[in-house]
Amino acid sequence: MAVPQNKVTRSRRNMRRGHDALTAGNPNECPDCGELKRPHHVCPSCGSYAGREVIAQVDEIDLDDDAA
Ligand SMILES: [Zn+2]
Repeated sequence: MAVPQNKVTRSRRNMRRGHDALTAGNPNECPDCGELKRPHHVCPSCGSYAGREVIAQVDEIDLDDDAA
């Protein structure tokens, strides 16, 4: 097994991790519902893409029907 030749100090480790921060996405506004969505992705709230509905949306889920 490969073994590090030198101890990485807290300082060096933290300096390396200084570049590890995640960057925020670049959300667009959905033209259909106005919610923020990822560019080039189907809108998660209304299921539309390029002006048409590609994922059918369930308006209301009645939980009582499923419980049997
Ligand atoms: Zn939408």
